Amino acid sequence: MPRFHIVWGTGPGLVEPFAKKVLQAEKVGKIDYKPRHRVDELITKNGEVIGISGKVLEECQIERGQESSRIEVADFEYFAESVIVASGGIGANMELVRQNWPKRLGNPPKQMIAGVPAFVDGRMLKISENAGARIVNKDRMWHYTEGLKNWKPIWNNHGIRILPGPSSMWFDALGNRFSAPNFPGFDTLSTLEAIQKTGHDYSWFILTEKIIEKEFALSGSEQNPDLTNKSYLQLLKRVLPGPPTPIKSFKEFGEDFIVERSLKDLVDGMNQLVGNDLLDFMKIKEQILARDREIENKFTKDIQVMAIQSARNYVGDKLIRVAKPHKFLDPQNGPLIAVRLNLLTRKTLGGLQTNLNGQVLNEAGEILKGLYAAGEVSGFGGGGIHGYRSLEGTFVGGCLFSGRQVGNYLSK
Ligand SMILES: Cc1cc2nc3c(=O)[nH]c(=O)nc-3n(C[C@H](O)[C@H](O)[C@H](O)COP(=O)(O)OP(=O)(O)OC[C@H]3O[C@@H](n4cnc5c(N)ncnc54)[C@H](O)[C@@H]3O)c2cc1C
Repeated sequence: MPRFHIVWGTGPGLVEPFAKKVLQAEKVGKIDYKPRHRVDELITKNGEVIGISGKVLEECQIERGQESSRIEVADFEYFAESVIVASGGIGANMELVRQNWPKRLGNPPKQMIAGVPAFVDGRMLKISENAGARIVNKDRMWHYTEGLKNWKPIWNNHGIRILPGPSSMWFDALGNRFSAPNFPGFDTLSTLEAIQKTGHDYSWFILTEKIIEKEFALSGSEQNPDLTNKSYLQLLKRVLPGPPTPIKSFKEFGEDFIVERSLKDLVDGMNQLVGNDLLDFMKIKEQILARDREIENKFTKDIQVMAIQSARNYVGDKLIRVAKPHKFLDPQNGPLIAVRLNLLTRKTLGGLQTNLNGQVLNEAGEILKGLYAAGEVSGFGGGGIHGYRSLEGTFVGGCLFSGRQVGNYLSK
């Protein structure tokens, strides 16, 4: 499979078949759907989980993903033989992310943007722990290093991830080009570690108009209206010259973008944006010139340039994903663009420990009767199915698989 793949219909398309089944089941009285019910406690009796309790929150009309009202209007309590926790990760709870931050990734960042909506708050982890559940692998997490502040935020501190092609040059806050494997879209955790070692919570892409046209995609359903709306016509427009509309808007309105004709002005703009003078124009220029020289060298040993050539061996990538190698400092290649890249929280790789049936375990490693967990709250299954790292884009798979395991077990 090529490196880059995306679901037809994006997130809403993925959820649709499941939502349909739930709504059908609700119609025939098999499911009682209770939106706006916030669980605050798991009710236990003799060491078994026997129910849930919490608050009903007031009704409110908001856009998908926006933070809803937290005003409590009633209490609730339900009892059941089996309680399944599927409450997601911790990515919107910056304090919890910092608290669980792994030593191997350096100091916890002071500045991060939120790559997940506010409901991904990790509350259910503590609530489950209070009921006797065991949380494991807290320090395993997966965040992105190519985060943009959303110029049109849906949720608070909303960050959008660039899904970059391989050609942008990537510099740390001090203006040093990252070395292998820290190239765009290669190894997020390795780059995160390299960024944290600099003592600054951001880094830079420098690229050209030709690169942004072909290589910048943004993560999120609103950022991919063609795929989300399943429109072949809109999709075909991706091969036309010029960046797609969402990218154009970010370039125009996003606070992280600088566009200039001369490298000197670009570097001045970068220093101005972050309010320091850490970037030295000559140092940046020398590194770009050294890279530009390698574009004509058939036997180049510049690993990033080699990777670009290799990516273009796949016809799909050559057509719509990887720009033809060109010199950054040749004015014919359009204005230069710098992008400040913020750290963006996303996935929680540890969580509630379960056995293969999704039954939650307690501190003694025994089954905590009545409680099950699936999805990101259980580290995508078991308490951390991915280990310390993961293969990009395989997270939802763990959610579906662990949910299926619990469903199969309970239906027997
Ligand atoms: C922008 C974006 C792009 C992504 N792209 C990819 C991708 O390309 N590939 C991939 O594999 N993964 C991707 N992911 C990750 C993936 O979408 C999530 O890991 C996955 O959706 C988690 O599913 P979940 O059901 O475990 O939790 P969630 O989808 O987070 O659902 C948890 C639910 O529990 C509810 N809840 C939480 N606490 C309580 C409570 N106390 N009481 C009542 N309800 C509660 C929440 O409201 C929410 O409805 C992406 C995530 C984002 C945000």
